[in-house]
Amino acid sequence: MALIVQKFGGASVANPQRIKNVACIVQKTKQNGNDVVVVVSAPGDTTDDLIKLSSGISSSVSDREMDMLLSTGEQVSIALLAMALQEKGEKTISLSGGQAGIITDGIYGKAKIIKIEPRHILSNLRKGKIVIIAGFQGITMDGEITTLGRGGSDTTAVALAAALNADLCEIYTDVKGIYTTDPRVVSKARCLPCISYGEVLEMASLGAKVLHPRAAEIAKNFNIQLRVRSSFDVHNEGTLVQGRGTKMVRRKSQQIEKMAVAGVAADKNQAKVTIVNVPDRPGIVSKIFEPIASENISVDMIIQNVSHRGFADVSFTINRSELQKVLRIVKKVAKEIKSKGVTSAADIAKVSIVGAGMYSYPGVAARMFTALARQRINIEMISTSEIKISCVVKEKQADLAVKALHREFRLDKK
Ligand code: ADP
Ligand code: ASP
Ligand code: MG
Repeated sequence: MALIVQKFGGASVANPQRIKNVACIVQKTKQNGNDVVVVVSAPGDTTDDLIKLSSGISSSVSDREMDMLLSTGEQVSIALLAMALQEKGEKTISLSGGQAGIITDGIYGKAKIIKIEPRHILSNLRKGKIVIIAGFQGITMDGEITTLGRGGSDTTAVALAAALNADLCEIYTDVKGIYTTDPRVVSKARCLPCISYGEVLEMASLGAKVLHPRAAEIAKNFNIQLRVRSSFDVHNEGTLVQGRGTKMVRRKSQQIEKMAVAGVAADKNQAKVTIVNVPDRPGIVSKIFEPIASENISVDMIIQNVSHRGFADVSFTINRSELQKVLRIVKKVAKEIKSKGVTSAADIAKVSIVGAGMYSYPGVAARMFTALARQRINIEMISTSEIKISCVVKEKQADLAVKALHREFRLDKK
């Protein structure tokens, strides 16, 4: 008997018919002799709708109350799925994140799981029940409800798979698996039969919504057998995410040139902040970034211009949802360090190419820049690592950029 964790995203539980479809998939897994733990997201666009609802009350709601509100979405799904399975004669129990023993830190809106105390889950599994757990949420040691950040139900599922030592974690979503790029942007994107942990982690971190970055990170760290597949096409096995060796299996029939780039990702949820004329002295840059870090805000690309008469501009990118918070902090610092002022842009996107082998192919960056130039796309910032190259472009040109890069690196399906 195996222990399988199955996670179903919002589209898979968007209405009663789809919830019944999920119940069939779960029941079949149980009837095949497995223990099953199910994680569900809020139905359809519920989380977005709840955010809109709160904006009708205030434009600056407290982070605590926001988590209290958003955590209700997943509770709708767990209860309805439990009812659907009970209707089919299965023994089942639904649990909130807190009831399931998912303990997080106290950073509302982007809490991290500290540990999972699985007693309650295990005792219910021993009773033969299917255990259904609310994704995206946890509880602090003080009993405060927290959420894990948008898309966080994937992280709940993979963390549970690690804590329960599950044999397999299946992420059911609304596309067939992990593609070379978002199949909704590039119709010629190819679904990959398998992908390495490293590649999927980069793709996820760079904006490929199909898997939450922290889920990819946990899967990699704990060597979790992970499969991403569609809840609408259960006969298709989707994409297997696993460790080393995967790449060679996947690409052995391809030519060396094609091995450099595995996929293209875009993050349209970015913003850029520039502090103009920053005095070029030791310690100044840390004065800018320390207060941002202490508010738990992650900064991504950072660029400091060449100093000119003792002054340089410092630009960096952040998640767009944090722009107002960052501007408040940075404007205060700008005054203190006597810089000229602060500008920002919320209409940017980050477009990236990802591939574990690309560092050994020196021409890859140049090809990327040329492909973007051919489409008259201006590159505002660049960052590189061994496994990816990212460019900041105007948001309205992001899809065009993704299509051009997908074509340039011969990822288009024939
Ligand atoms: P769920 O609600 O099931 O968690 P998400 O909307 O979070 O689903 O993620 C699935 C979506 O991710 C797909 O509908 C697709 O548009 C998008 N996506 C972006 N990049 C990729 C990619 N490389 N492969 C597959 N899907 C991707
Ligand atoms: N419901 C949450 C969201 O929409 C979490 C998730 O779907 O994974 O972000
Ligand atoms: Mg998701």
